[in-house]
Amino acid sequence: MNGGEIFCTVYRVSHSCGHERTETIGTLGKNREETIAQLRENPDVSVLIVGAGINGASVFRELALHGFDALIVDRGDFACGTTAAPSRMIHAGLRYLEFGEKKLVSEGVHERNLLLQNCPHYIFPLPTTIPYQSKFEGMMGVIRKTIGLSPGKRSKRRGKCMIGVGLRMYDQFAEHNRQMPKHYFTSQTEAFERRPGLHPDTIGTATYYDGWISYPERLCMEVISDAEAACDTARALNYVSAKSTRGDTVTLRDEIGGQDIEVRPKVVVNAAGAWIDFANENLGHPSKLISGTKGAHLVLENDELMKALDGEMLFYETPDGRAVVALPWLGKPLIGSTDIHVDNPDDARCDEEEIDYMIGCLKHLLPDVTVDRSQILSTFSGVRPLMAASAETTGQMSRSHFTDISEPTETANFPVFSLVGGKWTPFRAFGEQAMDKLLEHFEAERKVCTESIPVGGGKDFPRTDLDRNQWIDAVAQTTGLDANRLDTLLVRYGTVARQVAEFCVAGEDTLLNNHPSYTRREIEYMIRNERVLHMDDLLLRRTAIALLGELTSELLDELLGIFAAIAQLSDEQAAAERKRTTDILRDRHHVDVS
Ligand SMILES: Cc1cc2nc3c(=O)[nH]c(=O)nc-3n(C[C@H](O)[C@H](O)[C@H](O)COP(=O)(O)OP(=O)(O)OC[C@H]3O[C@@H](n4cnc5c(N)ncnc54)[C@H](O)[C@@H]3O)c2cc1C
Repeated sequence: MNGGEIFCTVYRVSHSCGHERTETIGTLGKNREETIAQLRENPDVSVLIVGAGINGASVFRELALHGFDALIVDRGDFACGTTAAPSRMIHAGLRYLEFGEKKLVSEGVHERNLLLQNCPHYIFPLPTTIPYQSKFEGMMGVIRKTIGLSPGKRSKRRGKCMIGVGLRMYDQFAEHNRQMPKHYFTSQTEAFERRPGLHPDTIGTATYYDGWISYPERLCMEVISDAEAACDTARALNYVSAKSTRGDTVTLRDEIGGQDIEVRPKVVVNAAGAWIDFANENLGHPSKLISGTKGAHLVLENDELMKALDGEMLFYETPDGRAVVALPWLGKPLIGSTDIHVDNPDDARCDEEEIDYMIGCLKHLLPDVTVDRSQILSTFSGVRPLMAASAETTGQMSRSHFTDISEPTETANFPVFSLVGGKWTPFRAFGEQAMDKLLEHFEAERKVCTESIPVGGGKDFPRTDLDRNQWIDAVAQTTGLDANRLDTLLVRYGTVARQVAEFCVAGEDTLLNNHPSYTRREIEYMIRNERVLHMDDLLLRRTAIALLGELTSELLDELLGIFAAIAQLSDEQAAAERKRTTDILRDRHHVDVS
């Protein structure tokens, strides 16, 4: 195939970096059955992407914008892997500067700033405060590094001077596209005035700005839906796994219908994150690229902690020298995370020791705040897809990313491009870099740059209060919905809220009995337009209902009723779906609604 051939019509506008950019926005509009039937009729695809987390989604969007016929599949739901498990920070990783990862951090700061511009509906500035207990600790390592010596044994604590060096660099990286204020220091007196509960050893705080993300799972889905909307031949299937390979054929498994689907890709992109080596085994390209570490989080009901956070993230040290976070997320305090080596990412759960550890660490930050297990609304856990390498501790393993290319073999007659490593924040850059390699392979040229393309409901998002009110007034006029309701929809869906609102008023609608901030048709919109194939897709990834502790047994039954009617489930099937959902929520999230 000629990689540059354009199969679809996209709206092009010129862009400052010299490339054209396209603007598309869409729901997950392609019909699953039709897509599977098309693949049965014509199994040839230029690029098969295995794994629909944020990195697979990013490459999928690149391919769609360049007109490639690309197929992305995930063995579970879109964004069901590590993409659903970050600390919800959009950041470059200040602490990676300690390990000399300047390039990674500078790229992360750039991408963070682009995300604040392109996804204003889901990504927001996050003031971040670091309390410190010493002035000079850790500086010896910085000085040794500056004069070209090895940093020596790492100090367990970072003092004011060391933090200041890092923050100055962090600010410098943001200089050419500054979106947020520079860092500042606060004296001990002022720090205690604002947060009287801080550990008494605190001698001051430093505050800088990063970002936080409200709905990472939805944003990932939007990247995929924008790609599908941009190109007729870009197709996405959740609940389809890459099972095995024979010659030029990859056998996929439809995990819903239970049938196999054979495809003939010219190239496979392995975007299976922490599962890359497992997927490469199935693809006939065995590898040892990943050494994953598990990280867990707790979402709490704790007003005292929320008050102490005071709208900021607290970034603090643990007694064992690690850096952990506590931040407000959708009105609840979120704390995390751990960093523990795991062999099989499927086994990752937030276990009892991790809960004790995270609660214990918080005691060193805010000794007087009462935190106990009864306050846990949910837990979530994911595996960092770190590149296999030796490092003294898991915290020191590199967070950078690269594309590994495995050439065709006799038994697997296509190359595999594996996306190794990577954080959430630089997904656009990683996708672009992988795409450059694909363009080289297909001898095609870059035509589109994604740097300034808004994602999903971030397109035309009203940024000022005035614009927001005008947007709400305009949609209120066409739909008759009141301003409060539209404001809620705008927060949940960005400007896609207009489509949701229009769908809601196109039929008889009522508030949910057990969660009146949602309506029946809003839920129906997600089930019909966002490929909800199981209840956990709705409860964990299209909404944050389960993680925020809002799910009751009655609400589950009410939502299941809506889902079962649309999916035409028999009573038996609905009961099995209910059991599946409660099992997943209990096993993986400490949410018990049975
Ligand atoms: C505890 C923790 C905290 C983090 N915090 C942050 C943060 O605050 N900010 C940040 O920027 N980054 C953070 N990260 C990193 C970030 O979340 C990940 O690097 C990123 O989400 C990885 O995305 P991915 O697309 O590569 O992998 P994934 O999201 O895991 O996607 C891989 C997908 O492949 C699918 N798959 C596997 N095998 C197959 C198969 N055979 N067939 C089909 N599909 C398959 C899986 O189902 C999965 O959905 C954190 C990570 C962890 C673990």
